[in-house]
Amino acid sequence: MAIGTLYIVAAPSGAGKSSMIGAYLNRNRKYPAQVSVSHTTREPRPGEEDGIHYHFVDHASFEAKIAQNDFFEYAQVFGNYYGTSRATIESCLSQGIDVFLDIDWQGARQVKALMPEAVSVFILPPSRHELEQRLHMRGQDSADVIAKRMQEAHSEMSHFDEFDYVIVNKVFDEAVNQLQAIVIAQRLRYTHQRLAQAKTITDLLGDQ
Ligand code: 5GP
Repeated sequence: MAIGTLYIVAAPSGAGKSSMIGAYLNRNRKYPAQVSVSHTTREPRPGEEDGIHYHFVDHASFEAKIAQNDFFEYAQVFGNYYGTSRATIESCLSQGIDVFLDIDWQGARQVKALMPEAVSVFILPPSRHELEQRLHMRGQDSADVIAKRMQEAHSEMSHFDEFDYVIVNKVFDEAVNQLQAIVIAQRLRYTHQRLAQAKTITDLLGDQ
């Protein structure tokens, strides 16, 4: 039976991570894959919808979920809790659905410890200047929030060397191609091919 792959994608905010994952999924509809919707205690930004961008919950509910061991991983980022639901991940992977986790470096570390076969990718912006421009253009955060996010970006980016792959998102389409190349290479690994190509392998190497 096919087993899905867990992709951990981390980046400082503004590096284009969500758009890249979205574009990858649009281009590759024939392969079952989905982005995990995290729980968070932060307030929704304009345009964000509960259950689509995040499950927005209060502190008490989040802590109750921690106590019930509901999270595959969780972390505090920018003073708020963020966590990935264990049940959703396990159910998708067991059905052969690839799952993309859009999480920070702390979550990435936890996932790699629990599931070393997960594939981790870090997205970098092409420059500090470009990152600042992108944060301004999003127009979702105030100037002081942007300044704080630039500081946090530095701290997030300092962990890029803990990841299996690094993509610099300078030209968007090229960056998406690179993400796709990682997924294709993963599907061609022996561990996947022996299941996906079981019939062919039996035909070629089965009893003579
Ligand atoms: P934002 O508030 O901008 O949506 O996300 C802030 C940071 O939290 C981003 O780096 C994002 O990847 C990370 N994040 C979102 N969901 C999760 C999660 O479930 N777990 C962890 N560890 N980080 C998350």
